[in-house]
Amino acid sequence: MPDKSILIVEDEAAIREMVRFALQRAEFRTAEAGDVRDARLRIAEARPDLILLDWMLPGVSGVEFARELKGSAVTRDIPIIMVTARAEEEDKVRGLNLGCDDYMTKPFSLPELLARVKAVLRRSQAGGEDEKLAVAGLEMDAAGQRVSASGKAVHLGPTEYKLLHFFMSHPERVYTREQVLDRVWGQGVYVEERTVDVHIRRLRKALEPFGLDGLIQTVRGTGYRFSERP
Ligand code: CA
Repeated sequence: MPDKSILIVEDEAAIREMVRFALQRAEFRTAEAGDVRDARLRIAEARPDLILLDWMLPGVSGVEFARELKGSAVTRDIPIIMVTARAEEEDKVRGLNLGCDDYMTKPFSLPELLARVKAVLRRSQAGGEDEKLAVAGLEMDAAGQRVSASGKAVHLGPTEYKLLHFFMSHPERVYTREQVLDRVWGQGVYVEERTVDVHIRRLRKALEPFGLDGLIQTVRGTGYRFSERP
């Protein structure tokens, strides 16, 4: 995904530099801002394809800025990855319903950063261009809403399809039932957490004939993870 531009909004110069270096090595273009005032100027100069937004900034916080961006018709469609210092903040961002596209907790690894950035960019493009996801012999063509395994069609109900799409675009990460509900069913929708289990079962059943049901893993006491690793 070369040539996409990422705006890094981060007040700690060392982190900004490390992130910029990693993104440029992956052939992204970058712009930087140390606070929200700066960020507004950068966005006015050139609209970024994605914003990495630190939660704690001097003056206006990242949270307030996210709200501002998502509240304006001009900037609403720019994907945002919110970067937080603690897992509790990540939970809060999620709870605040800011419309951010993803969340990352410091300290994060550079491969994780790149994987998140690419996944969010892929999803944000999914509307117009054909989005294709491929993991462990499973292929998803989001434009045509088709899923296949080793070339054979996998038949899924609409909810199982959305669930699988969510997992394939967020691999190797554990999600609680509540988080899965928020991301797949949507926030503010009243559905019991048990419902997630029901649809996970159906999804596994659909993948079973292809020997791929093990991709959807139960993490005891926590939730679910999509992973190629056993
Ligand atoms: Ca900060």
